[in-house]
Amino acid sequence: MNDERRGVYPFCAPCTASSIAWRPPDEAGATGIGSRFYGHRDVCEDCGSSIRTLYSTYLWIPVAKIGRFRIIPTGGRGYIGRKVVDRPVQTVVRQDAVSAHPELDGDPAYQQAEAYWRDSEPGRALPFYQSALTDREKRLPADDPATLRVRLRVAQGLLATANYGRAIAWFELMTPQLVEVFGPNHELTRAATEAVTGARLMVGGPRSEAKLLANIVAVDEQDLDRYDAQLLRDRAALGRALMACGEIADAIEALTQVVDDSMQALGASHPDAVVYRTALVDACHVTGTRGRKRDVQAAEAARRLLNDASAPRGT
Ligand SMILES: [Zn+2]
Repeated sequence: MNDERRGVYPFCAPCTASSIAWRPPDEAGATGIGSRFYGHRDVCEDCGSSIRTLYSTYLWIPVAKIGRFRIIPTGGRGYIGRKVVDRPVQTVVRQDAVSAHPELDGDPAYQQAEAYWRDSEPGRALPFYQSALTDREKRLPADDPATLRVRLRVAQGLLATANYGRAIAWFELMTPQLVEVFGPNHELTRAATEAVTGARLMVGGPRSEAKLLANIVAVDEQDLDRYDAQLLRDRAALGRALMACGEIADAIEALTQVVDDSMQALGASHPDAVVYRTALVDACHVTGTRGRKRDVQAAEAARRLLNDASAPRGT
């Protein structure tokens, strides 16, 4: 998992490279509403996967094409799948600022972290990457390519040491930044997508994820200031997990607090504050104007905060 060029088990490297991590939908149950694979082509001699087309079904009849997937059967009706992506778009990668700060790559903590990482010791690399990251974030923007590379290593180190909740929180925060800076098909963006999917498979569903993150936030709240970056990040992940559980009002309230606190702690234009605001805007879209009274009220309060945030501020 620390070599982005190797295939993601059980897929071989070329099949991994032409696809992205994907979690299968639930099987069509008694309702007849679901999805089903059709076709069977491009069988890979190396890993045995084949490309199948997924359709959504209604009363077991295919009604709409969802997409093409590389599938490896795992016995019975089980399978592991990856979504096939068409030829990656070349994106221009923003120049990183490390050239202007050569001391960052020469920093002993960073060098030690890299050495452990090369030796496949992500757990031992983790504290050194965390220290190097603190150093970078003091001098570089949070979404500088040089910062993002270390952020990714910190999250991967947390994942490797089974800190799934905190790892998910990091991946949630940095993935939009990786997409923005490196593009959606860059190996770092793909490594983050793979890793967060792996973390979610380990945690096992939105309910367990929300419970895990609620516990993490409770610990954070005891130890940290309400404006601490870690608390903001973990609380934002909790908000998203609650959203995935359909706990809309709780989700919006958690995200509203993150947006309010992050704007005060970091400033409205900070790249992390921008990610949190986007998450809140997305959550508000889900409620629309109908829905449960508490959900609508939470969304109205969130929209007031978002409007204040976009309005020019008097002094
Ligand atoms: Zn293959």
